[in-house]
Amino acid sequence: MFTLLDLVQPDNLAEAYQILSDKRNNTILGGCTFLKMGSKRIGTAIDLSNLKLSYIKEQAGFIEIGAMTSLREIETHKRLMECFNGVLPKSVHNIIGVQFRNSVTVGASVYSKYGFSDLITTMLALNTEVELYKSGRMPLIDFLNKPKEKDILVRLWIKVDNRKAAYLNLRNSASDFSVLNVAVSKLEDQWTVVVGARPRRAAIATSASAALSKGELSIEEIEDAAKRAAEELSFGTNMRGTANYRRALCQVLVKRGIMEVLQCK
Ligand SMILES: Cc1cc2nc3c(=O)[nH]c(=O)nc-3n(C[C@H](O)[C@H](O)[C@H](O)COP(=O)(O)OP(=O)(O)OC[C@H]3O[C@@H](n4cnc5c(N)ncnc54)[C@H](O)[C@@H]3O)c2cc1C
Repeated sequence: MFTLLDLVQPDNLAEAYQILSDKRNNTILGGCTFLKMGSKRIGTAIDLSNLKLSYIKEQAGFIEIGAMTSLREIETHKRLMECFNGVLPKSVHNIIGVQFRNSVTVGASVYSKYGFSDLITTMLALNTEVELYKSGRMPLIDFLNKPKEKDILVRLWIKVDNRKAAYLNLRNSASDFSVLNVAVSKLEDQWTVVVGARPRRAAIATSASAALSKGELSIEEIEDAAKRAAEELSFGTNMRGTANYRRALCQVLVKRGIMEVLQCK
């Protein structure tokens, strides 16, 4: 369990960021579910609850999701169930249980860049941008590739386009981390294949995505793209599965993801 020496609830982001920068062990709090697993000694804990960052709204062609929004809100949001064949609600549905998802925040889930993340894999297959207090707004892929520095994730922006999408994963047991997760999307002829929990962080299979992005697809082309994804990405071994097992799984899940997207209305 972690230790807090002090707790503040700032009224604005500038104050929150100032306190965060003041000392190395000052820390932003999300739902504290991951922090509780460790033994960090936190100087000043910064609770963002007063900043009205728990919301999902649609405006100017984007779905905007505040950092303090819970995974449960994503799972049950009516508009998110309609957009992109409901991949966002689907991707969080198996994370532990309802009570847990009511506590977990989107901001922490994305900011922490967890390799096992189901949400990051899915968001990467959509046109997603991250807004940070200090570093500003940038595509999710740029944020993931950026070295870690102290900042506050304020909100996420997902472009509402006509994208069809699918999310698949395999877990050894219902509430465990994914052994592998896959998200596939298609906007017009542009495909995006993303594979996460490798167990490294989610990555776009660029060669597989490019191979698919050329109109009508035969079953051989679909199988070839799935094979390419398994070959071009790196996989590792941990207690949930070996690198070879993940590579084989990748080929199966990517093929299923492509087939599912082709059947999406
Ligand atoms: C037992 C367990 C099982 C899990 N299983 C899965 C799973 O199967 N799939 C999956 O995708 N995820 C899983 N997760 C991760 C989970 O979904 C959350 O992403 C994670 O627990 C963090 O959520 P939190 O809001 O409680 O963050 P906290 O624990 O409060 O914070 C985590 C970190 O994020 C930082 N932080 C919080 N908010 C912000 C912000 N707005 N800006 C900058 N930094 C911030 C904190 O300082 C801290 O370093 C699991 C977590 C646990 C504990």
